[in-house]
Amino acid sequence: MKIKVLPDTVINQIAAGEVVERPASVVRELVDNAVDAGSSDIFIAVESGGHTRLRVRDNGCGMSRDEALLAFERHATSKVSAIEDLHSLTTMGFRGEALASIAAVSKVKLTTRTKEGSVGTTISFKGGKLVDVQSCAWNEGTEIEIDHLFFNTPARRKFLKSPRAELSRIRSWVAHSSLARPNVRYRLVSDGDEILNLPAVPSMTERGEQIFPGDLMTVSLSEGGLSVQGALGHPGEALADATGLIVLVNGRLISDKLVMRAVRDGYDSMLKDREFPVGYLSITMPPSMVDVNVHPQKSEVRFSHPDQMFAIVKGAVLRAVRSIRRPMIATSVPAPAIAVVAPVEKISSPPPPPPVVSRFEWPIPAPVQSVPAASSNVAFAEPVVRESAPFQPSFFSEPESPRYVTQSQPPKQSFRFSDLRYIGQLLQCYLVCELRDKLVVVDMHAAHERVNYNKIRAARAKHVLNVQKLLIPETVRLTGEQVAVLLDQSEMLRDLALEIEAVNDDTIAIHGVPGVLSHLDCAALVKEIAAEPVSEGWRERLEERIDHITARLACHASVRSGDTISRVEAYALFQQLDEADTAGACPHGRPVVAEFARDSVERWFGRDR
Ligand code: ADP
Ligand code: MG
Repeated sequence: MKIKVLPDTVINQIAAGEVVERPASVVRELVDNAVDAGSSDIFIAVESGGHTRLRVRDNGCGMSRDEALLAFERHATSKVSAIEDLHSLTTMGFRGEALASIAAVSKVKLTTRTKEGSVGTTISFKGGKLVDVQSCAWNEGTEIEIDHLFFNTPARRKFLKSPRAELSRIRSWVAHSSLARPNVRYRLVSDGDEILNLPAVPSMTERGEQIFPGDLMTVSLSEGGLSVQGALGHPGEALADATGLIVLVNGRLISDKLVMRAVRDGYDSMLKDREFPVGYLSITMPPSMVDVNVHPQKSEVRFSHPDQMFAIVKGAVLRAVRSIRRPMIATSVPAPAIAVVAPVEKISSPPPPPPVVSRFEWPIPAPVQSVPAASSNVAFAEPVVRESAPFQPSFFSEPESPRYVTQSQPPKQSFRFSDLRYIGQLLQCYLVCELRDKLVVVDMHAAHERVNYNKIRAARAKHVLNVQKLLIPETVRLTGEQVAVLLDQSEMLRDLALEIEAVNDDTIAIHGVPGVLSHLDCAALVKEIAAEPVSEGWRERLEERIDHITARLACHASVRSGDTISRVEAYALFQQLDEADTAGACPHGRPVVAEFARDSVERWFGRDR
């Protein structure tokens, strides 16, 4: 083996691999430089999502001709001079490698002038080599234009996402990082269209309002030199992942699992498993308490006192969450000794007579339109159809023709939902029932979700999952990045009878939904899917992804806590649950039904003594 020292251009190209991953990372480095230069107005223009051209212009301190030339040298920085400086760092940059790295893998033109300088300077680099230096007329400040990123490293160019996807990353980064500097004006123009215009505002709260139009609760706590400020969303609006939760540490956008966990903990069990709230938190602390030099792109940090940070973030969130006045959906209600009923074993043998008859002679099936009214004069004795109101479309009505149960008589002691005697709805969420000598409580949302989930799966397995075209397509406004994420998955969604189409950069139209579902909040569904981060290899695990989306579909086609359902609907739901496999848990694995034995009920009243 022959060892040789690499020339600078190659060193810079290799280093660029760490710093410059995609157009958004170039924007990040250039905007950070503009911020460090004390700018109050930062203008960003991109063409084809930064694939072809990208320009950042600021009104900061600018550079003299010598400084500008030096800026492209590797490890050239005006921000630190000794390692100790990292403990008191107040600038975004400090590694002195961004400009050298960017110049190594693109064509760069920098134009700049200081306040004192009588003329400006313009410098061009191509693939890391200086091409031209000239004096020119220029306003105070700096503009850097990057042409054809990765033009000389085609392997890297191949890894770029579509212009639309790259643009959304840029847009998200600019919007989110701007939270830390409300007094700076940010503008972003893409292919001539202004897509972001954030005028300077007095506070982060106002910047937050420019970016998060929703109704957020304020978070604010300072303790021991550490401050947590921001705003977070209602737990009922949480997402299935952390993409909507923006965390800044000393002005830097970071991703940090510990902070995320502290936020989740602060919600005090009001979030479901793996759910994260939307909103933003800006954590500030003395620079000595956080090491920012642990990641080449500075997107991860290390805290010197992680426990303290955790406690303060959690405390800040907890305090904010407790102040919520709107009702919340709590997911872990302590209950006395809950026994989860075992799922029904579906028997798929041919339909043998006699038909299933419940203890209460409840007719099967129970399509809502044609339920024969049973009668009784004893209150609560038998399931009684009391509703005589005109027919209304029901959540549980079958869009197809009624089907008859093809289930043989299950073994005596096995649990059947249709054996339940429905008493009433509790907390607009639970169906309270009696079964022999037990109190049985059914979570109506979880139950309905399970039914819908199984319907889609069964129809798909039989290749009869049909699209129900919408008369008027439903349109949903999203971010550009979310539209890109959705379009990427549109084929898979079509497989689930969900037809979507982009109307423009930030709007999606829903044209069709699965026919097996009688009611689907498709806008909410699409918003949720769009907000989820999708792992790179999702196509390799397609069935897993389809299963996940099926569960989300089922969820959005289901009755929600807060909906009132009629007795007829309750019995129709029980009927359908018996037809479903594994009806004992919702698709998320939460139990659908809980039962309380007679003796535990008697214990509540001291009758066991
Ligand atoms: P770093 O930001 O880590 O110092 P960079 O390679 O990003 O390294 O920049 C090198 C130097 O060039 C900076 O330290 C700064 O002095 C100068 N510089 C870069 N961009 C600007 C700008 N927009 N305005 C003024 N000076 C700049
Ligand atoms: Mg920099």
